[in-house]
Amino acid sequence: MESHQDIARILLRYRAFLIATHVLPDGDAIGSTLGLGFGLQKMGKRVIMSCPGGVPDSLAFLPGSNRIVAPDHISGEFDAVVVIDSSDLDRIEGIAGKIPPGTPVINIDHHVTNRMFGTYNYVDPGAAAAGEQVYRILVAMQVPVDRDMAMCLFTAVGTDSGFFRFSNTSPTTLRIAARLVEKGAEPFRVSEQVYETKTLGSLKLLGRVLDTLHVDESGKVAWLEVRREWLSEFGVDEGQTEGFVNYPRMVKGVEVALLFRESAEGKVRVGMRSRGDFDVSALAEAFNGGGHSRAAGCSMDALSLEDARRAVLQKVYEMMARAR
Ligand code: 5GP
Ligand code: MN
Repeated sequence: MESHQDIARILLRYRAFLIATHVLPDGDAIGSTLGLGFGLQKMGKRVIMSCPGGVPDSLAFLPGSNRIVAPDHISGEFDAVVVIDSSDLDRIEGIAGKIPPGTPVINIDHHVTNRMFGTYNYVDPGAAAAGEQVYRILVAMQVPVDRDMAMCLFTAVGTDSGFFRFSNTSPTTLRIAARLVEKGAEPFRVSEQVYETKTLGSLKLLGRVLDTLHVDESGKVAWLEVRREWLSEFGVDEGQTEGFVNYPRMVKGVEVALLFRESAEGKVRVGMRSRGDFDVSALAEAFNGGGHSRAAGCSMDALSLEDARRAVLQKVYEMMARAR
C-alpha cells in the first residue's frame, strides 16, 4: 500500500495521464477527477479524463467538466493511468480495455471493499471522499490549489459526506473543506446546483417511486423500486435517481434501506444504505458489488426487479440472523 506522499512522488515520474472514474459518477467521482486533472496540468503534465456514460447534468457546472469524455472518445497517448473512487475495474467499464498492457495503474480510492487492482494503491477507507485523498496528494506535490480546483474538490468532499451530515465526516473532512473554501470554493453554489436544481420530470418520478415504498414486517428493512419504463415516461435518465435511496432510510426504525433500479443494460442496480450496525458493504460484496459500511451498491445481471429484491432481502435476513 502506498501513502499519499508515495503517490505524489510516483505521479511526478510520468508525463501523460489517463484519469478514469466510475459509471454513474457522483460529485466525488467527477470532482476528484477534475481536481487531480487540474493539479497535474499545473505540474506540466498532459491529462485525458474519462468516465463511462459521461458527466451528469447536475455536475456540468463544475469547471472543466466538458473535458471529461466517454470511453469511446479517449484519444492520445498516456504513460500512466489513475483510477479514482472505484473499488474494482468493472466500475470503469469500457475504459479498462483501453489500457495497454504494462501501463502502470494508480488506484486512489476510499472504499473498504477496494480490490487493490493497481500497480500502486492508495486506499483509505477513513477518508470521507476520494477528494480528501486528492487534496492530500496535491499538497504533497506542492501544487497551489486555485479556485477551480477548490470548487471541484469541495464538491467531492461535500457530496460524499452528505454535506457533512454522514458518519464519515471527520475533523479532517471539515478542515479540508475549510481550506477549500478559503481557496475560493462556494458551498452554497455546490448545494444549489447538486441538491436544489431538479428537472420537473425527476421530481414527478420521485413521486411515482415513493409510491413503491415498502417496509417489511420487522420494520427494519425498507425499499423502493424504479421501473425502467418510468424513466422514459418522465424523460429522466438513471443518474437522476441519485438520492432516492435516502427516503427509505428516513423511515423511523429502519436499519437497512434499498433501492432497486431496472437499468439500461438489462441489469438491476441496487443501492444500499444502512443506519446502525448493519454493514451494507458486505451485503453488496455478496453480489459482486462494493462500497462503504453505510452506503454501498451492486449490479445484478438478467434479473427481474422481483428476483433481485427476493435475492437481496434473503441475504439481508441471513446476515441479520447471523449478527444476532
Ligand atoms: P450509490 O447507491 O450512491 O450509487 O452508491 C453507494 C456507494 O456504493 C458508492 O460508494 C459506490 O461507489 C458504491 N457502489 C454502488 N454500486 C456499486 C457497484 O455496482 N459496484 C461497486 N463495487 N460499488 C458500488
Ligand atoms: Mn467516493
